[in-house]
Amino acid sequence: MPRPKEKEPRHRVAQLSATTFRIVECYVRLAPKAQRCFLIDTGCGLGNLRKFIEDNINIDHWPYTVICTHFHFDHIAANHLFKDEQICFGGADKEFVLKSRGMPMPLYEGGHLGNVIDYPITQWLQDGELIPLDKAEPPQAESSLQVIFTPGHSPDSISLWDPEERRLFCGDFMYPSAAWDDPLSPPGGLYAMCEGSSMSVYHKAMLKVSGLRMEGP
Ligand SMILES: [Zn+2]
Repeated sequence: MPRPKEKEPRHRVAQLSATTFRIVECYVRLAPKAQRCFLIDTGCGLGNLRKFIEDNINIDHWPYTVICTHFHFDHIAANHLFKDEQICFGGADKEFVLKSRGMPMPLYEGGHLGNVIDYPITQWLQDGELIPLDKAEPPQAESSLQVIFTPGHSPDSISLWDPEERRLFCGDFMYPSAAWDDPLSPPGGLYAMCEGSSMSVYHKAMLKVSGLRMEGP
């Protein structure tokens, strides 16, 4: 199904630190020491996400590493705009991820979004893997994004722990607040009603991340 024509771009950005930005469903983590732009999820595919990032955040056009927290369409639909870059998924359930190829996207804000446009997967990430934010060889834990397998919402879900900023990028694994731009709004709950969701698996994954020390002194 062809994509409907958009009336206007829908990107909104919030700057969370000198190097981290939130664009509704996606996060950008700039890594100046590596001169690389990490893009965590690519959202629903509305507008030209890459152009928006390059006009507003990655103005030096550093190369990208796209890291998808899980295969749901609202996290991967602009992957095709980065087909010449690194695109990574968690490797816990490759078959589940590969189902996303060409999958139809449901009704969204009054229109069908079409189908996910194909893209290459260049790397399957492993639990505990370090993705360096600098040029250290081998990567050091304190200056890397750490991959944590956090299934429960979906079998392939991963989170990324950023120790420099004490931030956990977790996709749909959990929602600290119901409103994306208001951290003081009520907790957003768990989304354990999808294909492959499991509350018992969710519980184990929650225990895995419960010891991380998040933002604050
Ligand atoms: Zn999801």
